[in-house]
Amino acid sequence: MLISRKQQSAIKAINYDLFENIQIAISEQEILQKEQPGTLPSAETLRHLFNRFNFLYFNGKLTRPVIEYSNRMTCAGSYTPVKNLIKISQKYHAIFPDEIEDTLKHEMIHMIHFNHNAAFKVEAKRIGASLKAKTHPSLQKQPKYLYVCPGCGLEYPRQKKVRMLSCGSCSRRGRFDPEFKLKLSKSFTAGREISYA
Ligand SMILES: [Zn+2]
Ligand SMILES: [Zn+2]
Repeated sequence: MLISRKQQSAIKAINYDLFENIQIAISEQEILQKEQPGTLPSAETLRHLFNRFNFLYFNGKLTRPVIEYSNRMTCAGSYTPVKNLIKISQKYHAIFPDEIEDTLKHEMIHMIHFNHNAAFKVEAKRIGASLKAKTHPSLQKQPKYLYVCPGCGLEYPRQKKVRMLSCGSCSRRGRFDPEFKLKLSKSFTAGREISYA
């Protein structure tokens, strides 16, 4: 018997739900215990954790992203909307291994709110994710540029020049806001600091 496309996708949806429920039944601890002590969870484990958090906190509504480790990144994690990609820093979590779930939750909120705006903060509180990652001397790179928000004066050190970036805490509606476009305040080249008015 031939089944229609609609039926096919209905069947797929059922299987998907069953699969997800099984994943939820396994606690985070059980998943993490399978890993070698002292090593970071595999990308596969991160995907399981994503499924779990997605169902626990977002009614399963987030579209599954690609989740991968980055060995270059010095911050904890990142989310790239155009690629639907969550990157988790290897360097950061080698120092703070207990924060990996926190980082994942934080990046999952970025799938809905790009900036750390008020709505982001509400979500972070709701699901118990941190707003800021920890710092460690070995993670700090000397920034090449220092940008400042004309509204609140918050400083944004950057490795690259930025053009259309506005302050994450002042910009309205969580979007680029020309009123709070970051201004270049200093640049550092070959150990020399140049200040801009
Ligand atoms: Zn963030
Ligand atoms: Zn600001």
